Amino acid sequence: MRRLNLPECTSMQSYNLCLASVLDLNLKERLNRVSGFIEEVSEMYINQARVGNVYSIPPLIHPRGEDPIINADIRKSELLKLYGYHMVDRHPGRGLYDVILVAAKEQCPFCGGIGRPKSLDHYLPKANYPQYAVLPQNLVPCCRDCNTEKSNALAVAEDDQAIHPYFDDDKFFLEQWVFARVNLTRPCSLVYFSAPPIEWSDVERNRALNHFRDFNIGARYSVQAADELSALVDLRRGYLSNISPEEFSRYLASVSSSASYFSNHWKKIMYQALAQDRDFYNAPL
Ligand SMILES: [Zn+2]
Repeated sequence: MRRLNLPECTSMQSYNLCLASVLDLNLKERLNRVSGFIEEVSEMYINQARVGNVYSIPPLIHPRGEDPIINADIRKSELLKLYGYHMVDRHPGRGLYDVILVAAKEQCPFCGGIGRPKSLDHYLPKANYPQYAVLPQNLVPCCRDCNTEKSNALAVAEDDQAIHPYFDDDKFFLEQWVFARVNLTRPCSLVYFSAPPIEWSDVERNRALNHFRDFNIGARYSVQAADELSALVDLRRGYLSNISPEEFSRYLASVSSSASYFSNHWKKIMYQALAQDRDFYNAPL
């Protein structure tokens, strides 16, 4: 939903930073020996991500309790430890972790900034893709709720892939595909829904619809809107009580078109729906 700039750090810069805090010389040597493999598969990831196809990279699936070899004599657990210990907990790897996290500017890209990113999420889960455990382009800042919603579900088709904040087409970030309608209950509320443009391909439309459903965007946006709506009703009853319904509608539209909100921001969509709803802006409050 929100675009993030692609991390500038390359796969090898990240891999070597994490290796720097490995003290076991034998392990370090063995990890060094597979760096060509890591670089090669990372390049494949980036090439596939650019065309929206990372789902086509085969996942590692193995019986519980096994610790398979990924390349040469390096096991899955050793790559996961390179992330969990040498990137999350130790410098200099942690420095890169923080740079990627801070780049989200406190707004989670998956839910359109409702949540604050607390950690990095592996876009392709590390349990099934240990070779990408420390690949910067696979690490996305993510809030706790999105991390829970996303879980470790594997995309099995192009449609199933969450919108990738680093790689996906601009249309997902610049065009509007989330809308709302007003429920004139008391108190009134907003119902958000996803309606991608009909000009988009079926796959693109399905990806937007699935992203909206999988991250529970509708319910989460409505909760945000509820507080704002009650403050707005107070404003209409007080400071804005003397303006006409048409002026009130224009005021709502002006908030919606504020440049500070991205295309699918809950607040932009909320004010857009209210500005267009005759029953709302004409309602005696
Ligand atoms: Zn989120």
